[in-house]
Amino acid sequence: MKIGFLGLGQMGRGMAANLVRAGHEVTVWNRSPGKADDLVSLGATLAKRPVDAAGGEVVLSMLADDAAVEAVVYGAGGIAGAPALHVGHSTIGIALADRLAADAGEDRYVSAPVFGRPPAAEAGKLFVVAAGSGVALDRCEPLFEAIGQRSFRVGEAPSAANLVKLSGNFMIMAAVEAMAEAMTLAEKGGVPRGTLLEVLTGTLFGAPIYQTYGDILLEDRFRPAGFAAPLGLKDMTLADAAATRLGASMPVLGIVRDHLRALIAAEGPDIDWAAVALSVRRGAGL
Ligand code: NAP
Repeated sequence: MKIGFLGLGQMGRGMAANLVRAGHEVTVWNRSPGKADDLVSLGATLAKRPVDAAGGEVVLSMLADDAAVEAVVYGAGGIAGAPALHVGHSTIGIALADRLAADAGEDRYVSAPVFGRPPAAEAGKLFVVAAGSGVALDRCEPLFEAIGQRSFRVGEAPSAANLVKLSGNFMIMAAVEAMAEAMTLAEKGGVPRGTLLEVLTGTLFGAPIYQTYGDILLEDRFRPAGFAAPLGLKDMTLADAAATRLGASMPVLGIVRDHLRALIAAEGPDIDWAAVALSVRRGAGL
């Protein structure tokens, strides 16, 4: 399929590479063009403007946040009005997803945020959460197969997928907070973090989220950031906006969002969101 890919950050690079490897004819664009070199070596074509990558059947975007997506769609050289079906993989708010869908028209915009960190993107093992019209989603299926291990259809309104993604990220952050608090408690009482983790992940908490983040907390693997704390704070803020819009009370969300703020203030932005554990430990005098 002739496609475009916009945004070659930590996630986008691996996703675009897997689309090239799957045999698609891929034109890529990134704000900082140097990041496209490896993909061009792999066989992709480099576009000068986002719209130059949106002349084929589908254009996929994987950008930092709402502001980045707005710039790439509605800014100079943006893809608004281009013929391609736009598949938005970025984690953005539900209001922007609704706007993109309304402006693009039926069958022309799909939200498809993903679960999985950069190594999963590189390995083509993401989970894709998609929403949009059935016709549009059918067209995307071979692309989702190239980037992910499984895709889910969660509704006709594209913003349904963003709501699922934001809910999931809130649950990840709440799980990390809970693990960090439990590990700190154990450590204060003389039980090594690793011992606690071994017991809990080997009994009641065997889910991938506890395994993956448990190891990160155990080894203090916070730099380089796989998922940077400012992106995590962005997601908690978007979840909060959704909660306000839909009238849902989420007290735990407020706690994890503030811990992310404190983490970024204390450590700077270039740190993984799991490093909220550092704030938790400091709060216990460790
Ligand atoms: P990243 O490495 O920071 O990459 C961000 C991308 O957005 C880069 O290509 C960057 O371009 C581009 N960008 C930022 N602001 C822009 C603007 N104003 N105009 C145009 N382009 C702009 O982030 P990432 O980790 O790949 O994450 C991308 C998205 O996936 C985010 O929405 C994130 O929440 C979501 N996500 C991340 C993970 C993860 O574990 N990392 C997992 C699931 C979902 P430059 O190269 O020029 O800076």
